[in-house]
Amino acid sequence: MKRPVFRFAPSPNGELHLGHALSALTGFELARRLGGRFLLRIEDIDTTRARPEFIQSIFEDLAWLGIEWEEPVLRQSEHFADYQAAAKKLEDLGLLYPCFLTRNELAAFAAANSDARDPDGAPRVTRADLDISDAERARRRENGERFALRLDMQRALSFVREKTGRGELFFSEWDGNSQCRRVQASPERWGDVVIVRKEIPASYHLAVVVDDARQGITHVTRGLDLFAATDVHRLLQVLLDLPEPVYHHHRLITDATGRKLSKSARDTSLRAFREAGMTPQDIRRLIGF
Ligand code: GLU
Repeated sequence: MKRPVFRFAPSPNGELHLGHALSALTGFELARRLGGRFLLRIEDIDTTRARPEFIQSIFEDLAWLGIEWEEPVLRQSEHFADYQAAAKKLEDLGLLYPCFLTRNELAAFAAANSDARDPDGAPRVTRADLDISDAERARRRENGERFALRLDMQRALSFVREKTGRGELFFSEWDGNSQCRRVQASPERWGDVVIVRKEIPASYHLAVVVDDARQGITHVTRGLDLFAATDVHRLLQVLLDLPEPVYHHHRLITDATGRKLSKSARDTSLRAFREAGMTPQDIRRLIGF
């Protein structure tokens, strides 16, 4: 049997916190238990937010926790050409369209359509909402106006129906033990997701499926906050002919008020814990590991 391959894929937009420790340790320990490999991927496509010092911190924090990963570490910012090739494939299938919405227009759309929200709470946009003809789109594109590329969800789902002969999509959710269940994916609740961002020649959804396939990831371990995103990932895997990994979404670590930890909220970082004299054992205890 092929060796299982696990990964931890942080975005270097801030210092790692307890939630990251749980994520990294979950993947690392499961890989060990199954005799698998453990890879690290730096998700730094957002070059305006990613910073080299945070990448350095990731290496230090993980090593301090006793985690070992294989070299070389994949850095997404070095692979934009691959994400563009994948986007081109979707575009050639007629599944992408340019969206010229500005930040302000999107905010106005959100205010006028307060019930149209995706699972992350962002405005759920579909082609029908955008009051612009295909000819107008082509004209603005030729004019050199900047645009994002969105997935035409309805067309994508029809394409899947034709390709697989069935209307439904499923992914496998593993409990980290002996149970695996099939979960029905509903990517339509995301609307026409952005596949190539206006300012970045990729998107999280696109890069993550391209790289999980490139790295031969068999088991994706990550937090439950990304459970709904898996619907989009499963859809993209079918559209792009990529293999299907098993998913394990773990519990989230919350603060005393029940709020999910986030980098932007400056939650106590692993670095701060370390500098305050805590040990990796203390961290494991804190996260109930
Ligand atoms: N880079 C993402 C994050 O830090 C995680 C991506 C994933 O595990 O699929 O939230």
